[in-house]
Amino acid sequence: RTKGYQRGSYTLFTREMGVEIRERAMLMQHLHKAFDAERLYLMYQPQIDLHSRRVLGFEALLRWRTDDGQMIPPTDFIPLAEHSGLIISLGAWVMRTACFTMVQLLEKGFQLDRIAVNVSVIQFRQPDFFELVENALRDSGLAPHYLELEITESVTMNGAGLFEDALARLKNMGVQIAIDDFGTGFSSLSYLDKLPVDRLKIDRAFVAQIDTEGGPRIAELITQLGKKLGLKIIAEGIETELHWEVLNRLGCDEGQGFLVARPMLESAIEPWLREWK
Ligand code: C2E
Ligand code: MG
Ligand code: MG
Ligand code: MG
Repeated sequence: RTKGYQRGSYTLFTREMGVEIRERAMLMQHLHKAFDAERLYLMYQPQIDLHSRRVLGFEALLRWRTDDGQMIPPTDFIPLAEHSGLIISLGAWVMRTACFTMVQLLEKGFQLDRIAVNVSVIQFRQPDFFELVENALRDSGLAPHYLELEITESVTMNGAGLFEDALARLKNMGVQIAIDDFGTGFSSLSYLDKLPVDRLKIDRAFVAQIDTEGGPRIAELITQLGKKLGLKIIAEGIETELHWEVLNRLGCDEGQGFLVARPMLESAIEPWLREWK
């Protein structure tokens, strides 16, 4: 694994983390060591077509199990990795690993459309991010259209110029782009209209809302907005038959969630795919 990561931006770190500074620094050290010791690994969660039930692909999700067996959630350690700059080498490793996994699945004859990889804004800001994606694709032999980059909305909508260029280049190469956690950030609609995006991901908070008094109002809005813009819509956090049913009825094309499957180890993918109907 390559080292020599660069310092990240501090602006991202204004978010409350609920972790004391000393504790945070310690965790950061552990995280660096964990990466070197290969204690970080990927889990894969299936994404399916809500109409046909066909498996479309998988989202790669990072996991960290410490030496004493404790699981640290990515929502805790990704901000740390962003702060220390480790996210650059870590993210590069995620990208390559996910591409290689996808190639293996395709070579086994599974008909899948995509592998989705989460990308941090810090990665995007690297001048060589484009090359990094290109290399991961070339080295693994994965055709670009199989790779989908998930970018969170807040990230997408600030720092326009450079970001738009990077997106356009990737898009030209054939890589797919999804806006993650859509509806939780502060996006300008005109900006969204301009970006070369393929897919909106409805945040699971809005899927959970289906069970409340508000019902599926936001999910419906996002679906309609996406359709108007000619985008595909995928919902995350589908936990019940009702979620599936309602989203399907709203016109949401695709989904992922515990009802279908929890994120799984790479070794579990093949048996799961054979079971799924
Ligand atoms: P995300 O990209 O929005 O990923 C979806 C999260 O929802 C995952 O949490 C997934 O395990 C969880 N999830 C999926 N279905 C359900 C469900 O039915 N119910 C519930 N309650 N949860 C569900 P996870 O794996 O803890 O990841 C959290 C976040 O960490 C991700 O949110 C993503 O923003 C970030 N992340 C994970 N892996 C990476 C990575 O490799 N790079 C970067 N930059 N960020 C990552
Ligand atoms: Mg995601
Ligand atoms: Mg998401
Ligand atoms: Mg989310």
